Amino acid sequence: MGKIILTGDRPTGRLHVGHYVGSLKRRVELQDSGEFDEIYIMIADAQALTDNADNPEKVRQNIIEVALDYLACGLDPAKSVLFIQSQIPELCEMTFYYMDLVTVSRLQRNPTVKSEIQMRNFEASIPVGFFTYPISQAADITAFKATTVPVGEDQAPMIEQTREIVHKFNSVYGDTLVEPDILLPDNKACLRLPGIDGKAKMSKSLGNCIYLSDTEAEVKKKIMSMFTDPNHLRVEDPGQVEGNPVFIYLDAFCRDGHFAEYLPDYKNLDELKAHYMRGGLGDVKVKKFLNNVLQDELRPIRERRKEIAQDIPAVYQILEEGSRNAKAKAAETLAEMKRAMKINYFEDKELIAFHKDIIRIHKTHKEFLTGSLKYLYAEYNVIGYGRFNKEAQSVILVNNNDYEVTKEVSVWYLGIPKECVLNCLMLTTSEGYSTEPKQYPVISG
Ligand code: ATP
Ligand code: MG
Repeated sequence: MGKIILTGDRPTGRLHVGHYVGSLKRRVELQDSGEFDEIYIMIADAQALTDNADNPEKVRQNIIEVALDYLACGLDPAKSVLFIQSQIPELCEMTFYYMDLVTVSRLQRNPTVKSEIQMRNFEASIPVGFFTYPISQAADITAFKATTVPVGEDQAPMIEQTREIVHKFNSVYGDTLVEPDILLPDNKACLRLPGIDGKAKMSKSLGNCIYLSDTEAEVKKKIMSMFTDPNHLRVEDPGQVEGNPVFIYLDAFCRDGHFAEYLPDYKNLDELKAHYMRGGLGDVKVKKFLNNVLQDELRPIRERRKEIAQDIPAVYQILEEGSRNAKAKAAETLAEMKRAMKINYFEDKELIAFHKDIIRIHKTHKEFLTGSLKYLYAEYNVIGYGRFNKEAQSVILVNNNDYEVTKEVSVWYLGIPKECVLNCLMLTTSEGYSTEPKQYPVISG
């Protein structure tokens, strides 16, 4: 089995440094490592609409913004398939079937969805689509048979839900889907980067972000206004680094080399933190240092973005081609799923032949259908009473009594050893000849 990546972002705004450290930077490293056979990066517009249904223009405009951020960070369409979720209708179909495998109470337990509902003030008016988006996310992941999903920590419950759906699907319908593994950032600070306002998560929907496309001046302004330790009022006061976003950003971005270049009084971040905790180190000095560090990281991204933005039609073309490729892969998986779920009627030649046979028996042996339970006939894997054949695949039982004849009874009645019966198809004819046949589960022998 190949190693396959699926991950993505909602086009609800431009991408920010939380995305960058939480997922985007890692994706590019993984892409360039050559360790993966297929990489799919999705712009999740359908998911974005689950809580932005009345604002389609916002979602539409942000498709290109997210795509520009991707390309600027180094995602390469020659190595990664960049596509738009809504262009793959197969994902909706999968979601519909997965809905049968998940309970409402299981969805209600999802901690990320719970806090997002609170954050959006949905309370009693939660859109069904939003409530069930973890199921649609399971479709996104499984459609591509992803083995690896590089995301931030907030996505852990979604991957867990996906694994449960895969497990359930495979145990009910047979091995078809692949259980994915989450790939979290190694660096603790990157798991869930806080907002510049100190809120637990930098998030497009909260407006507390430093965007990858922000200008140098905007980045500086945001950093200088950042929330820090509220008790660190004067320079000489001892300060807290724990939970202090300025230090969390430094944890995420700075390397020892930055000190030599911008703050040579300290060898590394530990020394800077120790001074801050002792007292005597002002926020402004730390923020200025952070600004230098972040500008170093963001400058090349910003410049590349500007360059790529010169040719927007080419970017749409990348997305169109990616969507075509992604659709082909999802269609393959969906066909396998439908086969497993036994809803592939028209491609199942055996099933069609089987029914043809039944109808023929029906017509040519009408006289048998009047008495009590008796009959049978053998031809084309259909075996009859007294002509039992071990190679037979199926038993057809024609029953014109008013009561339902169970598989057990039929097996007993026909005197066929149970372990030899693979399929038992029953026609109930008491209401005429057109009654639908029922398919019974396979009895393994
Ligand atoms: P929205 O507010 O619309 O949900 P978002 O900012 O949460 O937007 P998503 O598109 O939902 O962004 O998330 C895309 C990816 O980025 C996910 O893998 C998510 O885990 C990761 N991510 C988002 N915000 C952060 C963050 N603050 N720190 C680390 N990773 C993050
Ligand atoms: Mg989110």
